[in-house]
Amino acid sequence: MVGSAVLRRLQKEGFKNFILRSAKELDLRVQRDVEEFFKQEKLDYVFLAAAKVGGILANNTYRAEFLYDNPMIQNNVIHQSYVHKVKKLLFLGSSCIYPKHAPQPLKEEYLLTGELEPTNEPYAIAKIAGIKMCDAYRDQYGCNFISAMPTNLYGPNDNYDLKTSHVLPALIRKFHEAKTENKPFVEVWGTGAPRREFMHVDDLADACLFLMEKYDKPGFVNVGTGVDVTIKELAEMIREIVGYEGEIEWDTSKPDGTPRKLMDVSRLDEMGWESQIDLKERLRWEIEDRR
Ligand code: GDP
Repeated sequence: MVGSAVLRRLQKEGFKNFILRSAKELDLRVQRDVEEFFKQEKLDYVFLAAAKVGGILANNTYRAEFLYDNPMIQNNVIHQSYVHKVKKLLFLGSSCIYPKHAPQPLKEEYLLTGELEPTNEPYAIAKIAGIKMCDAYRDQYGCNFISAMPTNLYGPNDNYDLKTSHVLPALIRKFHEAKTENKPFVEVWGTGAPRREFMHVDDLADACLFLMEKYDKPGFVNVGTGVDVTIKELAEMIREIVGYEGEIEWDTSKPDGTPRKLMDVSRLDEMGWESQIDLKERLRWEIEDRR
């Protein structure tokens, strides 16, 4: 989802010399294959968006895979980018790197100030390692490797599999199916109380290009909209847009996860970038497009 959005954004800007590989063509977890790829191609700029990702259930179920695949991918790509003198690398993480009970909105300096949310701890630890790796390669080898931490994303090429997806695509699918099949209710996980911030992936892609051109510092930058909603509000919003008239039932046997994950976007704001895409407006557009 992120990789293809970054590609669309760069194409729109007029860039042409892309070196692309699908996950099938190049398994980034395999050290020798990544080494061979970097040896053969001459990469100048690397957008490291590849990762094993998923929603709350996937993160909690495939804990070992999240903690194996992600460090393997980022270690291989970051290290080979150093060996082959890549001019600049952008590493993408996630807002779940922050402590579960960090003050809100989340400022970059809250990293590693408290316990992580248990449901996504393996993923968070992998992503924190990626940030630290970019910084260590900058310190020890002088590499211009930067990191950005996007909030929850949605948009084209999202995962709609109900067992592994994030909440937003899951709810679009659930309300659609309930409407078409005339189901009396839709099951939504948890209590509905957690708050989440949702950003369209095209917004993130725009921020990635901005950071690649303008940011050259250690640490990382939050990327978000600065606005959040409760899961209940999100569910109501999607129900209304889809035009479903049944009930919402809360399945409290499923976890809520972190109570709130709202990004403080003032660092990016001060640099001169802000999110352009409104959640409700874009959801209306995307959902109506799917009909
Ligand atoms: P998180 O941001 O890492 O917690 O990941 P998710 O996007 O998977 O979940 C966000 C919140 O939405 C959690 O509180 C979930 O319990 C809640 N949620 C409600 N219904 C669903 C659903 O059908 N799928 C998912 N993935 N989450 C849901």
